[in-house]
Amino acid sequence: MSEIAQTDEAYVAHAYARFPVEIVSGKGALALSADGRTYIDMGAGIGVNAFGYADPVWCQAVSDQLGTVQHTSNLYFTEPCAMLAKALCDRTGAGKVFFGNSGAEANECAIKVARKYASDKWNAAHPEGGQAPSTIITLENSFHGRTLTTLAATGQDHFHELFKPLTPGFMHIPANDIAALEAACDLPDTCAVMIECVQGEGGVNVLSEEFVACASQFTRERDMVLIIDEVQTGNGRTGDLYAYMGYGIEPDVITTAKGLGAGLPIGACLMWSKVEDVIQPGDHGSTFGGNPVCCAGALSVIERLTDEFLADVRAKSAHIRERLEGAEGIEGISGAGLMIGISTVKPAADVVKTCIDGGVLCLTAKNKVRLLPPLNIPDEVLDQALDVILEACK
Ligand SMILES: *Cc1c(COP(=O)(O)O)cnc(C)c1O
Repeated sequence: MSEIAQTDEAYVAHAYARFPVEIVSGKGALALSADGRTYIDMGAGIGVNAFGYADPVWCQAVSDQLGTVQHTSNLYFTEPCAMLAKALCDRTGAGKVFFGNSGAEANECAIKVARKYASDKWNAAHPEGGQAPSTIITLENSFHGRTLTTLAATGQDHFHELFKPLTPGFMHIPANDIAALEAACDLPDTCAVMIECVQGEGGVNVLSEEFVACASQFTRERDMVLIIDEVQTGNGRTGDLYAYMGYGIEPDVITTAKGLGAGLPIGACLMWSKVEDVIQPGDHGSTFGGNPVCCAGALSVIERLTDEFLADVRAKSAHIRERLEGAEGIEGISGAGLMIGISTVKPAADVVKTCIDGGVLCLTAKNKVRLLPPLNIPDEVLDQALDVILEACK
């Protein structure tokens, strides 16, 4: 073990089972390790490094802002925060944005918005008081974050066991089960539905168009809040700017993070007209949220996700599928855009280990190998990585 690895083992909380790779620098899709190896990074920091390492456009936007105003607190206006919120609204049709620092925080905001929307409505109709509906329906195998509330939202029991009691008011139903969704929406305590259009951590599972359309219809008919968790799927990852756009629905709230930051921590909760004024002074806040450096970098990301760029993401996706589908040791491919799940005959963890030996960094999601490469990975680098992955799956 290297000295850095030993120091890390000794002093950093053992929250992660790290691979024996120490990354010292990177350029584009390539990561350089302390022992002089070059890896093709097909995980991009779990979908964060949307334009790879040390992308010159993003670095320029960030460093220009860093040397100007690095932070002000939310007591004052700054240009990057305002302009990023405007860009996100212009590109989606949302009305307002709240900024936090992570995916989990973006989801915390969405959950508060859904609960307060229900409370405001209840209080207007019930001057005598009482309890507004508060249950939020989420899906089995979902992943919404690591805070106690977003863990409660996460439909994977093994994350829950040692941390009870979790925040109450979440109900999990099977993905793509329209009857279960309708029955849950009909319960008197339900106030919202929260879904990932493509479940990331849960195994790169794509929701059916019919199910997402029903989630939209059922919530609209009952004046509930539809939240789409786009923390992983957003910002071009699935080949649409946001994954919900590929489903032809209009949500009430979307949350995003990961690729929006392109390497710096940011989370955003986008609210459509129905709920855009739910948050009022004192209802929510964040010290770092809307940080001008993170926002300047994120704005540069959003500006580059043009229709032409997204078409290229879809072309790269089609190329990956073409090369992997039906290959030896591969049982199936799932996902959308550059969010790809590979069902392998060998255990996914073994394939990932072999890939590392071959100079390619991949991820897992449940029992699948997961790929989240930089959105602009050059075609020839992508093909080199696929050669290694194909060999490792055999
Ligand atoms: C990663 C992820 C989160 C949590 O984001 P953090 O930034 O780690 O808090 C939430 N939802 C989804 C869908 C994710 O993929």
